[in-house]
Amino acid sequence: MIRDDTDDTNDPDDSSTAFDTQTVLPDGGTAAGEDDVALDPWGSATVSDYRKLFEEFGIEEFDGVLPEVPNPHYLMRRGVIFGNRGYRRVAEAMQNDEPFAALSGFMPTGEPHIGHKLVFDELIWHQQQGGDTYGLIADLEAHSARGLSWEEIDEHSRDYLLSLLALGFDAEEGTLYRQSENRELQDLSFELGSKANFSEFQSIYGFDGETNVSHVQSVVTQMADILYPQLDEPKPTVIPVGPDQDPHVRLARDLAVRMRFFGVTEAYASFELNEDEQKLVAELYRTLDSADFDDDSLRCVHVAQAIDGMTPDELDVDAETVSSAKAKLDEAGMEPLRPRVRFLDRNATNEAFDALIDAIDGEKRVFDEHIDVFDYSREEAEELAREVEMENDGYGFIMPSSIYHRFMTGLTGGKMSSSVPASHISLMDDPQDGYDKVKSATTGGRETADLQREKGGKADECPVYELYAYLLSGDDDEFATEVYEECVGGERLCGGCKEQAAELMKEFLEEHQEKREEAEELLDELDIQLESSRR
Ligand code: SF4
Repeated sequence: MIRDDTDDTNDPDDSSTAFDTQTVLPDGGTAAGEDDVALDPWGSATVSDYRKLFEEFGIEEFDGVLPEVPNPHYLMRRGVIFGNRGYRRVAEAMQNDEPFAALSGFMPTGEPHIGHKLVFDELIWHQQQGGDTYGLIADLEAHSARGLSWEEIDEHSRDYLLSLLALGFDAEEGTLYRQSENRELQDLSFELGSKANFSEFQSIYGFDGETNVSHVQSVVTQMADILYPQLDEPKPTVIPVGPDQDPHVRLARDLAVRMRFFGVTEAYASFELNEDEQKLVAELYRTLDSADFDDDSLRCVHVAQAIDGMTPDELDVDAETVSSAKAKLDEAGMEPLRPRVRFLDRNATNEAFDALIDAIDGEKRVFDEHIDVFDYSREEAEELAREVEMENDGYGFIMPSSIYHRFMTGLTGGKMSSSVPASHISLMDDPQDGYDKVKSATTGGRETADLQREKGGKADECPVYELYAYLLSGDDDEFATEVYEECVGGERLCGGCKEQAAELMKEFLEEHQEKREEAEELLDELDIQLESSRR
């Protein structure tokens, strides 16, 4: 079961983690076959089939929310950002000029490259749209999961931050931090850790008895990162990442719910129904008429009787559900069947529970661990639950959202890998080296120029075209389209096309590196410790 929720409903059925264990790889494991898609935060970042991420993991297509995004970024318009979880909520906040946040993190394991630039740009764009924006250095993760020394981490951290600033991140408006230096973050991670357990980590991440405990702690730290923008007040938050980070996003969404004081669900009587029973009873409530039972209200026992008189076909649910629902209805006897909204006590203090009782208007039924109300819509109840939670020192977290970008193909074909220099372009590469790498990149071209003129190039399979679409065209859609059309139409030949791309790459690197230099001073003035006292 994978939850496909675009909102932050507090249904208790939603709160347990149910990850698809067989498709998530353990650290460096090889459990998945050729065709399997694995989302492994510490594995190799490739996805062979993006469609499977929708079908198997429940990631939603970005195109579904695109029309609701004000001035979408070119990465959104061009389908580079292909997926999301719950991004509608962030888009709505942008539309309505309401507070929202964006946060992402970077493991300082090497030099920042053009793949990281996608995330830098996504953060900066959300900041320009008015979001409260955070960039963090995942140094605890780099140390515990990748074994980097603090010295190496310090050096690389500086490089990530310089590029982020050079690309336009406003450090006065936004927040930059290192995991290791952020005490508030550690406190939050400790709290969140109390809502997760090790078997869950085993099934999500493939952790086992050999996994080092600091690695486990770095996961809880990432959970805190994701919820950090909501420490002062809950707000829709987007986490722009690659799809390999989706297991983290799902867990964080779950933890956000598990931390809540109250859950809100819908019910029909004093007892609890599971999802299928609920569907059955809702349908019967809709179709049955109390007058047929010679009574002024529809009572549980009436519904049980009605079930007896119906065929399995008419009921349209499995036999087990029919009999369990019927037993519950029989047991409740003459209790009227009435739709209601239910507040469940999840983590509330006694004071908060009492405060909620006081705050509810109209008819209410108070039980030990829940309160039923009759004059609220579910949305109104959720709003009230959050208000009371916040007035009573709770966080009131809103489920974080995410957006996912495609991984860039390596310039040498195959995957782009930090360990294969020719496959990627570092933002710190000498501009001439950048030029050379593009010139020797693999293309989607045909064997001969004549064939290319006749059949056109395969832009969709061409890493050079990707460079145009992801980076070199910038905001200029017309230019990106022109390159594409000319290529597939056979008017563009690879030699010239690469020459043009290589020139543009060189210019980009020159300009970026100038800006990095200008950012040095800015970085030194910032309140971020770049020399770790750790060893
Ligand atoms: Fe790629 Fe350009 Fe060749 Fe087309 S013409 S296949 S985009 S290098």
